[in-house]
Amino acid sequence: MSAQKLRVGILGATGTVGQRFVQMLANHPQFEVTALAASDRSQNKPYAEACTWRLVGDMPAAVRKLPVLAPEPPLDCDFVFSSLPSDCARDVEEQFARAGYPVVSNSAAWRMEPDVPLLVPEINPEHLGMIAAQRRNHGFGRGYLVTNPNCSTIILVLALAPLETQFGLEAVTATTMQALSGAGYPGVASMDIADNVMPYISQEEEKMERETRKILGRLDGGAGAAALREAPVRISAQCNRVDVTDGHLVAAKIKLAKPATLDEVRRAMQSFSGVPQELRLHTAPERPVIVREEADRPQPKLDRDAGRGMSVTVGRLFPDRVLDYRFMVLGHNTIRGAAGAAILNAELLVAKGLLGPMTVPSAPVTESAARR
Ligand code: NAP
Repeated sequence: MSAQKLRVGILGATGTVGQRFVQMLANHPQFEVTALAASDRSQNKPYAEACTWRLVGDMPAAVRKLPVLAPEPPLDCDFVFSSLPSDCARDVEEQFARAGYPVVSNSAAWRMEPDVPLLVPEINPEHLGMIAAQRRNHGFGRGYLVTNPNCSTIILVLALAPLETQFGLEAVTATTMQALSGAGYPGVASMDIADNVMPYISQEEEKMERETRKILGRLDGGAGAAALREAPVRISAQCNRVDVTDGHLVAAKIKLAKPATLDEVRRAMQSFSGVPQELRLHTAPERPVIVREEADRPQPKLDRDAGRGMSVTVGRLFPDRVLDYRFMVLGHNTIRGAAGAAILNAELLVAKGLLGPMTVPSAPVTESAARR
């Protein structure tokens, strides 16, 4: 193991997102996987035995013999990525933060807490200012929680952010066509989804509406939990599961606060970039938003891997007869929508001096000490 790399633990390492973490972290210049954890079904087995690898290409050799452990501190790592199901993530992630581990999570459990950043590094890097308040509020010491959005939210919000910044957004409607891998493995039964569309994904519509307003919100005064003002945009989401393996497609309509021409809207999206591009973070795409002109793009099969899965692709951008503009936006749900989003978050945390080696294991902070 090279000394300068940070040691990474993955909670939920055998799942759909966990495998994507393992794949994306193989040969990462800053991070090295040293600990893996999953449910008791997988524990005490080498990863190669516990995990049925379902991604294209082989399981990386470096993780094959790592034992799968219980998701409990201590783990042999400097910080953890979490892709645990939400029902167990809340307690487990808090336990790790309390034990001094930064937790970079995919799970919904902590996303909407007012002192937990719901981070998209191109959009709201200043929300990292919440970490100081979070540590104070929870008595976390070295540990803290940072989350990335729901997989459909992040794809939509990357297209919305440049419009919000330049023209302001009054209203958004979004209708999703979400891939099967978004439901984890084994996901929706094949007999339910073949030849079909499921017009319901539990809590997904609420997540898209609430998370978008938080991500686009402003953090005033730096660090206080009460200082986040959610963006006042009205947003209505309808979510559908479709028979596609990877890649969520979103049909969006928007009403702007200030008038803008089609050309201005297109240029705002195309030229969008942020701190990850300035800092040339390893996982950052050159262009977060790609705008295509062909009449029949974006398509999941053709466009989900744009920017190594980290760009979203916008197409069919036109004036709309009901709101101001309409477009389709597509992104890779397990890369930009999950593992890639969390890895980019961790790269930003390193760049901002918030993530480093675990020199001395922090003593767990008790509940009563946290309240003092
Ligand atoms: P998944 O394929 O079902 O994988 C779940 C993982 O968590 C597996 O490693 C599983 O271990 C482990 N696990 C399950 N129950 C556990 C328990 N009680 N204790 C410890 N570990 C447990 O799900 P996924 O699609 O990867 O999703 C994981 C999380 O990421 C969810 O919170 C999901 O909402 C979120 N997310 C998913 C996507 C996506 O596109 N799939 C996108 C964004 C966010 P075993 O293999 O041992 O059962």
